[in-house]
Amino acid sequence: MLKVYNTLSQKKEIFKPRKARKVNLFVCGPTVYDFSHIGHARTYIVFDMIAKYLKQKGYRVYYLQNITDVDDKIINRAIEEKIFWKDLSRKFEKEYLKDMKALNITSVTKYARATDHIREIISQIERLLKKGYAYQIKDGIYYDISKFKDYGKLSKRTALMAEDAVSRIDEAKEKRNKGDFCLWKFVRPEWQKSGKKFLRIPSWPSPWGAGRPGWHIEDTAITEKYFGSQYDIHGGARDLIFPHHEAEICQMEAISGKKPMVKYWLHTGFLTVKGQKMAKSLGNFITIKDFLKKHSARHYTKQSYGVGARILRFFVLKTHYRSPIDYSEKEIGQVKSQLERIDEFLDKLQSRIGTNVTTNNTNRISEISAQIREYLRAFEKAMDDDFNTPRAMALVFHLISRGNYLFDKEKITPADAREILKFLRKIDKVFNFIFFGERVALKIPSFIKKMVKEREEARKKGDWKLADEIRRKIQWMGYKIEDTKEGPKIKKI
Ligand code: AMP
Repeated sequence: MLKVYNTLSQKKEIFKPRKARKVNLFVCGPTVYDFSHIGHARTYIVFDMIAKYLKQKGYRVYYLQNITDVDDKIINRAIEEKIFWKDLSRKFEKEYLKDMKALNITSVTKYARATDHIREIISQIERLLKKGYAYQIKDGIYYDISKFKDYGKLSKRTALMAEDAVSRIDEAKEKRNKGDFCLWKFVRPEWQKSGKKFLRIPSWPSPWGAGRPGWHIEDTAITEKYFGSQYDIHGGARDLIFPHHEAEICQMEAISGKKPMVKYWLHTGFLTVKGQKMAKSLGNFITIKDFLKKHSARHYTKQSYGVGARILRFFVLKTHYRSPIDYSEKEIGQVKSQLERIDEFLDKLQSRIGTNVTTNNTNRISEISAQIREYLRAFEKAMDDDFNTPRAMALVFHLISRGNYLFDKEKITPADAREILKFLRKIDKVFNFIFFGERVALKIPSFIKKMVKEREEARKKGDWKLADEIRRKIQWMGYKIEDTKEGPKIKKI
Protein backbone atom coordinates (compact mmCIF):
# COMPACT_ATOMS: atom_id res chain seq x y z
CA MET A 1 0.00 0.00 0.00
CA LEU A 2 1.56 3.25 -1.18
CA LYS A 3 2.01 6.04 1.36
CA VAL A 4 3.09 9.56 0.43
CA TYR A 5 4.13 12.53 2.55
CA ASN A 6 1.61 15.31 2.01
CA THR A 7 2.94 18.83 2.64
CA LEU A 8 -0.66 19.94 3.31
CA SER A 9 -1.23 17.58 6.28
CA GLN A 10 2.49 17.26 7.10
CA LYS A 11 1.95 13.51 7.43
CA LYS A 12 2.44 10.35 5.44
CA GLU A 13 -0.95 9.37 4.04
CA ILE A 14 -2.27 6.31 2.23
CA PHE A 15 -2.39 7.16 -1.46
CA LYS A 16 -5.91 6.93 -2.84
CA PRO A 17 -6.46 8.89 -6.04
CA ARG A 18 -9.80 10.60 -6.64
CA LYS A 19 -10.71 8.10 -9.37
CA ALA A 20 -9.79 4.46 -8.74
CA ARG A 21 -6.85 3.78 -11.10
CA LYS A 22 -6.33 7.21 -12.66
CA VAL A 23 -3.79 9.75 -11.39
CA ASN A 24 -3.72 13.38 -12.48
CA LEU A 25 -0.29 14.80 -11.68
CA PHE A 26 0.83 18.39 -12.21
CA VAL A 27 4.39 19.65 -11.69
CA CYS A 28 5.50 23.27 -12.06
CA GLY A 29 7.66 23.54 -15.15
CA PRO A 30 10.57 25.88 -15.86
CA THR A 31 10.70 29.58 -16.63
CA VAL A 32 12.44 29.43 -19.98
CA TYR A 33 14.99 32.27 -20.09
CA ASP A 34 18.25 30.33 -19.72
CA PHE A 35 19.70 26.82 -19.79
CA SER A 36 18.41 24.51 -17.06
CA HIS A 37 20.83 23.41 -14.35
CA ILE A 38 21.22 20.15 -12.47
CA GLY A 39 19.15 21.57 -9.57
CA HIS A 40 16.17 21.69 -11.94
CA ALA A 41 17.14 18.20 -13.12
CA ARG A 42 16.87 16.95 -9.54
CA THR A 43 13.24 17.93 -9.27
CA TYR A 44 12.29 16.64 -12.72
CA ILE A 45 14.14 13.30 -12.30
CA VAL A 46 12.26 12.78 -9.02
CA PHE A 47 8.84 13.36 -10.56
CA ASP A 48 9.76 11.19 -13.54
CA MET A 49 10.61 8.40 -11.08
CA ILE A 50 7.32 8.98 -9.21
CA ALA A 51 5.22 8.91 -12.42
CA LYS A 52 7.01 5.78 -13.63
CA TYR A 53 6.53 4.00 -10.31
CA LEU A 54 2.82 4.89 -10.25
CA LYS A 55 2.54 3.47 -13.78
CA GLN A 56 4.33 0.32 -12.66
CA LYS A 57 1.75 -0.02 -9.90
CA GLY A 58 -0.96 -0.06 -12.54
CA TYR A 59 -2.22 3.54 -12.41
CA ARG A 60 -3.00 5.45 -15.57
CA VAL A 61 -0.99 8.63 -15.05
CA TYR A 62 -1.64 11.93 -16.82
CA TYR A 63 1.44 14.01 -16.07
CA LEU A 64 0.99 17.67 -16.95
CA GLN A 65 3.72 20.30 -16.80
CA ASN A 66 3.47 24.00 -17.61
CA ILE A 67 6.12 26.04 -19.37
CA THR A 68 6.38 29.62 -18.12
CA ASP A 69 7.10 31.41 -21.38
CA VAL A 70 6.01 34.88 -20.29
CA ASP A 71 7.54 36.41 -17.18
CA ASP A 72 9.56 39.44 -16.02
CA LYS A 73 12.75 37.34 -16.03
CA ILE A 74 12.19 36.49 -19.70
CA ILE A 75 11.42 40.09 -20.64
CA ASN A 76 14.45 41.47 -18.79
CA ARG A 77 16.80 38.91 -20.31
CA ALA A 78 15.43 39.54 -23.81
CA ILE A 79 15.97 43.29 -23.46
CA GLU A 80 19.48 42.68 -22.09
CA GLU A 81 20.35 40.51 -25.07
CA LYS A 82 18.43 42.68 -27.53
CA ILE A 83 16.31 39.85 -28.84
CA PHE A 84 12.55 39.44 -29.10
CA TRP A 85 11.13 37.85 -25.92
CA LYS A 86 9.40 35.10 -27.87
CA ASP A 87 12.57 34.10 -29.72
CA LEU A 88 14.33 33.85 -26.37
CA SER A 89 11.64 31.79 -24.65
CA ARG A 90 11.19 29.43 -27.63
CA LYS A 91 14.93 28.84 -27.79
CA PHE A 92 15.19 27.88 -24.11
CA GLU A 93 12.00 25.84 -24.22
CA LYS A 94 13.62 23.78 -26.97
CA GLU A 95 16.81 23.44 -24.91
CA TYR A 96 14.80 22.37 -21.88
CA LEU A 97 12.97 19.67 -23.84
CA LYS A 98 16.27 18.45 -25.28
CA ASP A 99 17.71 18.20 -21.74
CA MET A 100 14.68 16.26 -20.54
CA LYS A 101 15.03 13.82 -23.42
CA ALA A 102 18.74 13.37 -22.71
CA LEU A 103 17.87 12.52 -19.09
CA ASN A 104 15.29 9.98 -20.26
CA ILE A 105 12.50 11.97 -18.63
CA THR A 106 9.77 10.42 -20.72
CA SER A 107 6.77 10.33 -18.40
CA VAL A 108 5.33 13.80 -19.09
CA THR A 109 2.05 13.48 -21.00
CA LYS A 110 1.68 17.15 -21.90
CA TYR A 111 3.78 20.30 -21.74
CA ALA A 112 1.47 23.32 -21.69
CA ARG A 113 2.74 26.83 -22.45
CA ALA A 114 1.32 29.74 -20.46
CA THR A 115 0.88 31.83 -23.62
CA ASP A 116 -1.29 29.15 -25.20
CA HIS A 117 -3.77 29.51 -22.33
CA ILE A 118 -4.46 33.25 -22.18
CA ARG A 119 -8.20 32.69 -22.72
CA GLU A 120 -8.36 30.33 -19.71
CA ILE A 121 -6.31 32.78 -17.62
CA ILE A 122 -8.64 35.69 -18.44
CA SER A 123 -11.66 33.54 -17.60
CA GLN A 124 -10.22 32.72 -14.14
CA ILE A 125 -9.49 36.39 -13.40
CA GLU A 126 -13.01 37.37 -14.49
CA ARG A 127 -14.47 34.85 -12.05
CA LEU A 128 -12.21 36.05 -9.23
CA LEU A 129 -13.28 39.68 -9.85
CA LYS A 130 -16.93 38.67 -9.92
CA LYS A 131 -16.64 36.83 -6.61
CA GLY A 132 -14.86 39.77 -4.97
CA TYR A 133 -11.48 38.10 -4.50
CA ALA A 134 -9.70 40.38 -6.95
CA TYR A 135 -9.48 44.14 -7.47
CA GLN A 136 -8.11 46.49 -10.06
CA ILE A 137 -5.46 49.17 -9.48
CA LYS A 138 -3.41 51.32 -11.80
CA ASP A 139 -0.88 48.71 -12.82
CA GLY A 140 -3.02 45.58 -12.89
CA ILE A 141 -5.49 43.18 -11.30
CA TYR A 142 -4.54 41.84 -7.86
CA TYR A 143 -5.71 39.04 -5.57
CA ASP A 144 -6.86 40.20 -2.12
CA ILE A 145 -5.43 37.58 0.26
CA SER A 146 -7.50 38.91 3.19
CA LYS A 147 -10.63 37.61 1.43
CA PHE A 148 -9.50 33.99 1.45
CA LYS A 149 -9.88 32.61 4.93
CA ASP A 150 -7.74 29.51 4.36
CA TYR A 151 -4.75 31.60 3.33
CA GLY A 152 -1.55 29.94 4.57
CA LYS A 153 -2.93 26.42 5.00
CA LEU A 154 -0.20 24.83 2.86
CA SER A 155 2.84 26.84 3.98
CA LYS A 156 1.50 27.36 7.53
CA ARG A 157 2.05 31.09 7.17
CA THR A 158 -0.47 33.74 8.08
CA ALA A 159 -1.37 36.66 5.83
CA LEU A 160 0.68 38.84 8.18
CA MET A 161 3.73 36.66 7.68
CA ALA A 162 3.23 37.10 3.97
CA GLU A 163 4.34 40.67 4.59
CA ASP A 164 7.90 39.34 4.69
CA ALA A 165 7.30 37.46 1.51
CA VAL A 166 10.36 35.91 0.05
CA SER A 167 10.17 35.30 -3.64
CA ARG A 168 8.39 36.76 -6.63
CA ILE A 169 5.89 38.82 -4.61
CA ASP A 170 4.64 41.58 -6.82
CA GLU A 171 5.32 45.11 -5.70
CA ALA A 172 2.73 47.85 -6.25
CA LYS A 173 2.13 50.83 -3.95
CA GLU A 174 -1.65 50.74 -4.18
CA LYS A 175 -2.01 47.11 -3.14
CA ARG A 176 -4.52 46.49 -0.33
CA ASN A 177 -2.29 44.00 1.51
CA LYS A 178 1.41 43.53 1.18
CA GLY A 179 0.99 39.84 0.37
CA ASP A 180 -1.49 40.49 -2.48
CA PHE A 181 -0.23 39.15 -5.78
CA CYS A 182 -0.68 40.12 -9.37
CA LEU A 183 -3.11 38.27 -11.65
CA TRP A 184 -2.88 40.55 -14.69
CA LYS A 185 -0.25 43.17 -15.32
CA PHE A 186 -1.13 46.08 -17.58
CA VAL A 187 1.34 46.97 -20.25
CA ARG A 188 2.20 50.65 -20.51
CA PRO A 189 1.20 51.93 -23.96
CA GLU A 190 4.40 54.01 -24.25
CA TRP A 191 6.44 50.77 -24.18
CA GLN A 192 4.50 49.38 -27.08
CA LYS A 193 5.28 52.41 -29.25
CA SER A 194 8.95 51.54 -29.54
CA GLY A 195 9.95 50.63 -33.07
CA LYS A 196 12.48 48.08 -31.81
CA LYS A 197 11.20 44.51 -31.82
CA PHE A 198 13.23 43.45 -28.78
CA LEU A 199 11.61 46.22 -26.74
CA ARG A 200 8.11 45.00 -27.54
CA ILE A 201 6.72 43.81 -24.22
CA PRO A 202 4.35 40.83 -24.54
CA SER A 203 0.70 41.71 -24.14
CA TRP A 204 -2.75 40.38 -24.91
CA PRO A 205 -6.10 42.17 -25.01
CA SER A 206 -8.38 41.64 -22.01
CA PRO A 207 -11.63 43.14 -20.71
CA TRP A 208 -9.52 45.43 -18.47
CA GLY A 209 -6.85 46.47 -20.95
CA ALA A 210 -3.82 45.03 -22.69
CA GLY A 211 -1.45 43.15 -20.44
CA ARG A 212 0.12 39.87 -19.47
CA PRO A 213 -0.69 37.23 -16.84
CA GLY A 214 0.86 37.06 -13.38
CA TRP A 215 2.96 34.02 -12.56
CA HIS A 216 0.57 32.09 -10.26
CA ILE A 217 -2.55 32.21 -12.41
CA GLU A 218 -1.09 30.32 -15.37
CA ASP A 219 -0.87 27.08 -13.39
CA THR A 220 -4.46 27.02 -12.15
CA ALA A 221 -5.77 28.05 -15.59
CA ILE A 222 -3.85 25.16 -17.15
CA THR A 223 -4.79 22.56 -14.53
CA GLU A 224 -8.46 23.58 -14.61
CA LYS A 225 -8.49 23.06 -18.39
CA TYR A 226 -7.00 19.55 -18.28
CA PHE A 227 -8.05 18.24 -14.86
CA GLY A 228 -10.95 20.38 -13.65
CA SER A 229 -10.88 22.20 -10.31
CA GLN A 230 -9.67 19.22 -8.26
CA TYR A 231 -6.93 16.69 -8.90
CA ASP A 232 -4.57 14.20 -7.28
CA ILE A 233 -0.94 15.33 -7.03
CA HIS A 234 0.82 18.66 -7.36
CA GLY A 235 4.59 18.76 -7.24
CA GLY A 236 7.55 21.09 -7.33
CA ALA A 237 10.62 21.91 -5.27
CA ARG A 238 10.09 23.20 -1.75
CA ASP A 239 10.83 26.84 -2.64
CA LEU A 240 7.51 26.88 -4.45
CA ILE A 241 5.39 26.08 -1.37
CA PHE A 242 5.27 29.79 -0.59
CA PRO A 243 4.09 32.01 -2.17
CA HIS A 244 3.47 30.11 -5.41
CA HIS A 245 1.52 27.04 -4.33
CA GLU A 246 -0.27 28.95 -1.59
CA ALA A 247 -1.42 31.41 -4.28
CA GLU A 248 -2.63 28.58 -6.51
CA ILE A 249 -4.86 27.30 -3.69
CA CYS A 250 -6.27 30.83 -3.10
CA GLN A 251 -7.12 31.16 -6.77
CA MET A 252 -8.63 27.78 -7.55
CA GLU A 253 -10.53 27.15 -4.32
CA ALA A 254 -11.99 30.68 -4.41
CA ILE A 255 -13.14 30.21 -7.99
CA SER A 256 -14.63 26.73 -7.61
CA GLY A 257 -15.71 26.84 -3.99
CA LYS A 258 -14.43 23.25 -3.79
CA LYS A 259 -11.61 22.00 -1.61
CA PRO A 260 -9.05 20.66 -1.62
CA MET A 261 -7.83 21.71 -5.04
CA VAL A 262 -5.09 19.11 -4.71
CA LYS A 263 -5.26 15.92 -2.64
CA TYR A 264 -1.50 15.36 -2.22
CA TRP A 265 1.19 18.06 -2.31
CA LEU A 266 4.69 16.63 -2.90
CA HIS A 267 7.81 18.76 -2.60
CA THR A 268 11.42 17.95 -3.40
CA GLY A 269 14.45 19.08 -1.40
CA PHE A 270 17.10 21.25 -3.01
CA LEU A 271 20.23 20.34 -4.81
CA THR A 272 22.83 22.41 -3.00
CA VAL A 273 26.48 23.33 -3.42
CA LYS A 274 28.38 23.63 -0.14
CA GLY A 275 25.01 23.80 1.58
CA GLN A 276 23.62 26.61 -0.58
CA LYS A 277 20.75 26.09 -3.05
CA MET A 278 21.96 25.74 -6.64
CA ALA A 279 20.41 28.72 -8.42
CA LYS A 280 20.91 30.79 -11.52
CA SER A 281 20.87 33.96 -9.45
CA LEU A 282 23.69 32.72 -7.17
CA GLY A 283 25.87 31.72 -10.10
CA ASN A 284 26.75 28.38 -8.44
CA PHE A 285 25.14 26.23 -11.09
CA ILE A 286 26.18 23.58 -13.58
CA THR A 287 23.94 23.32 -16.61
CA ILE A 288 22.51 19.92 -17.49
CA LYS A 289 24.18 20.24 -20.87
CA ASP A 290 27.66 20.83 -19.40
CA PHE A 291 27.21 18.00 -16.95
CA LEU A 292 26.24 15.56 -19.70
CA LYS A 293 29.08 16.71 -21.94
CA LYS A 294 31.62 16.28 -19.17
CA HIS A 295 30.43 12.81 -18.32
CA SER A 296 30.07 11.27 -21.72
CA ALA A 297 31.96 8.04 -22.32
CA ARG A 298 32.82 6.13 -25.41
CA HIS A 299 32.94 2.61 -24.09
CA TYR A 300 29.19 2.16 -24.11
CA THR A 301 27.05 1.32 -27.10
CA LYS A 302 24.23 3.74 -27.73
CA GLN A 303 21.24 3.59 -25.42
CA SER A 304 18.46 6.16 -25.66
CA TYR A 305 20.27 8.07 -22.91
CA GLY A 306 23.97 8.31 -22.19
CA VAL A 307 26.30 7.67 -19.30
CA GLY A 308 26.01 11.25 -17.98
CA ALA A 309 22.26 10.78 -17.61
CA ARG A 310 22.81 7.55 -15.73
CA ILE A 311 25.23 9.28 -13.36
CA LEU A 312 22.84 12.16 -12.72
CA ARG A 313 19.83 9.90 -12.23
CA PHE A 314 21.77 7.67 -9.82
CA PHE A 315 23.13 10.69 -7.96
CA VAL A 316 19.63 12.16 -7.55
CA LEU A 317 17.84 8.94 -6.62
CA LYS A 318 20.35 7.72 -4.04
CA THR A 319 18.99 10.41 -1.70
CA HIS A 320 15.36 10.52 -0.57
CA TYR A 321 13.45 13.09 -2.65
CA ARG A 322 12.56 15.28 0.32
CA SER A 323 16.12 15.58 1.66
CA PRO A 324 18.72 18.03 0.35
CA ILE A 325 21.54 16.70 -1.84
CA ASP A 326 24.91 18.40 -1.74
CA TYR A 327 26.72 18.33 -5.05
CA SER A 328 30.46 17.72 -5.16
CA GLU A 329 32.93 16.17 -7.58
CA LYS A 330 33.80 13.65 -4.89
CA GLU A 331 30.18 12.49 -4.69
CA ILE A 332 30.01 12.14 -8.46
CA GLY A 333 33.23 10.09 -8.37
CA GLN A 334 31.59 7.72 -5.89
CA VAL A 335 28.51 7.44 -8.08
CA LYS A 336 30.71 6.50 -11.03
CA SER A 337 32.39 3.70 -9.14
CA GLN A 338 29.02 2.40 -7.92
CA LEU A 339 27.77 2.37 -11.50
CA GLU A 340 30.94 0.58 -12.57
CA ARG A 341 30.12 -2.07 -10.01
CA ILE A 342 26.65 -2.49 -11.52
CA ASP A 343 28.14 -2.61 -15.05
CA GLU A 344 30.62 -5.31 -14.09
CA PHE A 345 27.87 -7.37 -12.55
CA LEU A 346 25.76 -6.95 -15.69
CA ASP A 347 28.74 -8.06 -17.80
CA LYS A 348 28.96 -11.24 -15.74
CA LEU A 349 25.23 -11.90 -16.06
CA GLN A 350 25.20 -11.30 -19.81
CA SER A 351 28.18 -13.56 -20.43
CA ARG A 352 26.73 -16.27 -18.19
CA ILE A 353 23.55 -16.32 -20.24
CA GLY A 354 25.60 -17.10 -23.31
CA THR A 355 27.11 -20.22 -21.73
CA ASN A 356 25.66 -23.58 -20.75
CA VAL A 357 27.31 -23.68 -17.36
CA THR A 358 25.65 -26.09 -14.98
CA THR A 359 26.07 -26.02 -11.26
CA ASN A 360 26.08 -28.72 -8.63
CA ASN A 361 22.76 -27.35 -7.42
CA THR A 362 20.12 -30.11 -7.55
CA ASN A 363 17.07 -28.02 -6.54
CA ARG A 364 14.72 -27.03 -9.31
CA ILE A 365 14.59 -23.46 -8.04
CA SER A 366 18.09 -22.21 -7.29
CA GLU A 367 18.93 -20.14 -4.26
CA ILE A 368 19.10 -16.78 -6.01
CA SER A 369 15.95 -17.26 -8.09
CA ALA A 370 13.98 -17.97 -4.93
CA GLN A 371 15.45 -14.88 -3.30
CA ILE A 372 14.53 -12.64 -6.24
CA ARG A 373 10.90 -12.78 -5.12
CA GLU A 374 11.98 -11.46 -1.74
CA TYR A 375 14.00 -8.70 -3.39
CA LEU A 376 10.98 -7.70 -5.44
CA ARG A 377 8.77 -7.57 -2.36
CA ALA A 378 11.38 -5.50 -0.51
CA PHE A 379 11.69 -3.15 -3.51
CA GLU A 380 7.95 -2.49 -3.52
CA LYS A 381 7.91 -2.05 0.25
CA ALA A 382 10.64 0.58 0.05
CA MET A 383 9.05 2.43 -2.85
CA ASP A 384 5.59 2.28 -1.23
CA ASP A 385 7.08 4.06 1.76
CA ASP A 386 6.98 7.56 0.25
CA PHE A 387 9.22 6.54 -2.68
CA ASN A 388 12.19 5.50 -0.58
CA THR A 389 14.67 5.18 -3.44
CA PRO A 390 17.82 4.98 -1.25
CA ARG A 391 16.40 1.87 0.44
CA ALA A 392 15.38 0.41 -2.92
CA MET A 393 18.85 1.06 -4.34
CA ALA A 394 20.55 -0.55 -1.35
CA LEU A 395 18.71 -3.72 -2.38
CA VAL A 396 20.37 -3.64 -5.78
CA PHE A 397 23.79 -3.58 -4.16
CA HIS A 398 22.80 -6.28 -1.73
CA LEU A 399 21.77 -8.43 -4.67
CA ILE A 400 25.07 -7.67 -6.45
CA SER A 401 27.11 -8.74 -3.39
CA ARG A 402 25.07 -11.91 -3.07
CA GLY A 403 25.31 -12.56 -6.82
CA ASN A 404 29.08 -12.04 -6.90
CA TYR A 405 29.47 -14.44 -3.99
CA LEU A 406 27.43 -17.06 -5.82
CA PHE A 407 29.37 -16.43 -9.04
CA ASP A 408 32.57 -17.15 -7.10
CA LYS A 409 31.04 -20.34 -5.77
CA GLU A 410 29.96 -21.21 -9.32
CA LYS A 411 26.34 -21.34 -8.32
CA ILE A 412 24.81 -19.03 -10.93
CA THR A 413 23.23 -20.82 -13.90
CA PRO A 414 22.17 -19.12 -17.14
CA ALA A 415 18.56 -19.39 -15.87
CA ASP A 416 19.55 -17.57 -12.64
CA ALA A 417 21.31 -14.88 -14.64
CA ARG A 418 18.16 -14.39 -16.71
CA GLU A 419 16.05 -14.19 -13.55
CA ILE A 420 18.33 -11.56 -12.00
CA LEU A 421 18.34 -9.53 -15.22
CA LYS A 422 14.54 -9.65 -15.33
CA PHE A 423 14.39 -8.22 -11.82
CA LEU A 424 16.91 -5.49 -12.64
CA ARG A 425 15.01 -4.60 -15.81
CA LYS A 426 11.82 -4.22 -13.83
CA ILE A 427 13.24 -1.85 -11.27
CA ASP A 428 15.14 0.06 -13.92
CA LYS A 429 11.86 0.93 -15.63
CA VAL A 430 11.54 3.35 -12.71
CA PHE A 431 15.21 4.32 -12.13
CA ASN A 432 16.81 4.34 -15.59
CA PHE A 433 20.42 4.11 -14.53
CA ILE A 434 21.29 0.50 -15.26
CA PHE A 435 22.93 -0.17 -18.59
CA PHE A 436 21.65 -3.26 -20.39
CA GLY A 437 23.32 -2.73 -23.73
CA GLU A 438 26.61 -4.25 -24.70
CA ARG A 439 29.67 -2.35 -23.51
CA VAL A 440 31.98 -1.82 -26.41
CA ALA A 441 35.34 -3.36 -25.58
CA LEU A 442 38.02 -0.73 -25.13
CA LYS A 443 40.73 -0.89 -27.71
CA ILE A 444 43.52 -2.84 -26.05
CA PRO A 445 46.97 -2.12 -27.54
CA SER A 446 48.54 -5.12 -29.25
CA PHE A 447 51.62 -5.12 -26.97
CA ILE A 448 49.33 -5.57 -23.96
CA LYS A 449 47.53 -8.41 -25.72
CA LYS A 450 50.92 -9.99 -26.46
CA MET A 451 51.94 -9.74 -22.79
CA VAL A 452 48.65 -11.33 -21.71
CA LYS A 453 49.36 -14.21 -24.08
CA GLU A 454 52.86 -14.63 -22.64
CA ARG A 455 51.42 -14.68 -19.16
CA GLU A 456 48.94 -17.38 -20.16
CA GLU A 457 51.78 -19.49 -21.52
CA ALA A 458 53.77 -19.03 -18.30
CA ARG A 459 50.73 -20.08 -16.29
CA LYS A 460 50.24 -23.17 -18.43
CA LYS A 461 53.85 -24.14 -17.73
CA GLY A 462 53.34 -23.51 -14.02
CA ASP A 463 55.84 -20.63 -14.01
CA TRP A 464 53.86 -18.56 -11.50
CA LYS A 465 56.75 -16.22 -10.78
CA LEU A 466 56.96 -15.12 -14.41
CA ALA A 467 53.17 -14.94 -14.72
CA ASP A 468 53.02 -12.63 -11.70
CA GLU A 469 55.79 -10.48 -13.02
CA ILE A 470 54.03 -10.02 -16.36
CA ARG A 471 50.78 -9.19 -14.56
CA ARG A 472 52.59 -6.50 -12.52
CA LYS A 473 54.04 -5.02 -15.72
CA ILE A 474 50.63 -4.97 -17.38
CA GLN A 475 49.18 -3.27 -14.33
CA TRP A 476 51.95 -0.72 -14.35
CA MET A 477 50.96 0.13 -17.92
CA GLY A 478 47.41 0.86 -16.82
CA TYR A 479 45.58 -2.40 -17.50
CA LYS A 480 44.32 -5.13 -15.24
CA ILE A 481 43.69 -8.79 -15.92
CA GLU A 482 40.74 -10.65 -14.52
CA ASP A 483 40.92 -14.41 -14.79
CA THR A 484 37.46 -15.76 -15.56
CA LYS A 485 36.06 -19.13 -16.57
CA GLU A 486 36.02 -17.86 -20.13
CA GLY A 487 39.70 -16.89 -20.03
CA PRO A 488 41.59 -13.70 -19.06
CA LYS A 489 39.73 -10.38 -19.44
CA ILE A 490 41.68 -7.15 -19.87
CA LYS A 491 40.40 -3.87 -18.49
CA LYS A 492 41.74 -0.35 -18.44
CA ILE A 493 42.36 0.83 -14.90
P1 AMP B 1 12.37 27.69 -12.22
O1 AMP B 1 12.69 27.59 -13.67
O2 AMP B 1 13.35 28.48 -11.44
O3 AMP B 1 10.94 28.15 -12.00
O4 AMP B 1 12.47 26.21 -11.60
C1 AMP B 1 11.83 25.09 -12.12
C2 AMP B 1 11.69 24.00 -11.06
O5 AMP B 1 12.98 23.56 -10.60
C3 AMP B 1 10.93 24.44 -9.82
O6 AMP B 1 10.14 23.35 -9.34
C4 AMP B 1 12.03 24.77 -8.86
O7 AMP B 1 11.60 24.76 -7.54
C5 AMP B 1 13.03 23.66 -9.17
N1 AMP B 1 14.40 24.00 -8.73
C6 AMP B 1 15.10 25.12 -8.98
N2 AMP B 1 16.32 25.09 -8.38
C7 AMP B 1 16.40 23.89 -7.72
C8 AMP B 1 17.40 23.26 -6.90
N3 AMP B 1 18.57 23.83 -6.65
N4 AMP B 1 17.13 22.02 -6.40
C9 AMP B 1 15.94 21.41 -6.66
N5 AMP B 1 14.96 21.97 -7.41
C10 AMP B 1 15.17 23.19 -7.94
